[in-house]
Formats: sequence, structure tokens, C-alpha cells
Amino acid sequence: MTTVKHTGLFKWDRSDVLKYKEKGNHFKDITRQMLYPGRPELPVQMRYFEIAPGGHSTLERHHHVHMVMAIRGSGEVLVGNEIQKLDSFDLVEIPPKTWHQFRATFGETFGFLCLVQIERDRPELPTVDDLAQLNKDPKIAGFIRYDAPLIPVGVK
Ligand code: MN
Repeated sequence: MTTVKHTGLFKWDRSDVLKYKEKGNHFKDITRQMLYPGRPELPVQMRYFEIAPGGHSTLERHHHVHMVMAIRGSGEVLVGNEIQKLDSFDLVEIPPKTWHQFRATFGETFGFLCLVQIERDRPELPTVDDLAQLNKDPKIAGFIRYDAPLIPVGVK
């Protein structure tokens, strides 16, 4: 790993722009670049995600933590039961087991760096029960975007 040059407009050399999570459709208009894949002495990855205007990331939670810094435009994030505006260079931590979703809500491209450990658990998607719980708060109900869960109530 040597220097990875920024080649302009939030594209980095040697990092292919990937459609975020090829499988499933719990997200919209978001791409990912792997900027740093990590190594045993520094077991974290740095990725850059970019959401097109109106798009969003997956509504999910997991045990691992994200440290996020917005670097392009502004957007909003749900963290637990709070919705926060993120402007470029703002930082936000997504704590363990906390529902989160990023949205490009201001009619502009929203890009952020995301630091995460290499070894991590799989994200959990909301069940029908989880969604019912989240939708109790009208503020959250108006914000979250998701596809109907495939998992019936009570089945893990
Ligand atoms: Mn996540």
C-alpha cells in the first residue's frame, strides 16, 4: 500500500467504483470505493460511499462500529432514534447495535468516508417487528426507506 492519489471529483486511483452491495435492493443510488483495505497491524478499512441526490443507504444495524466523516455535500443520517444533518467535514459515530441509514436529502450528491474494522458481523436488516417499533416515532417513520422484509414476524 502506497499513496492512493485522488484523481479528481471524489475518485481515487486503484479503487474501483462499485455498486454498493450487489445483492438485494435495500438501498438506492449509492456507490462504494475501497480506499484502504487494512492489514493485521491496522485492522480497519476506509471506504468512500457516495449517494446520488434522493438516494439512501441500507437501513441496518450490527455489532461493529462505523466512524463516518462527510466530505462531499450534505445529507442526513438516522442514528438510533435521532436524525441529524451532516455537512461536509462533520463526523458521526454509529455505535454498536444501532439502527442507521444515510440519505442524500438536500438535492445534492452526498459523500462520506467510513472507517470500519476488517473483522465484522453481518448487518442485520429490520424485521416486520423492528419496523413497527421504528415507525412508532413519526419523525423516524417519515425518514426511513426500506423494502418490505422477507422475514415473517417471529422467525429469525
Ligand atoms: Mn452499517
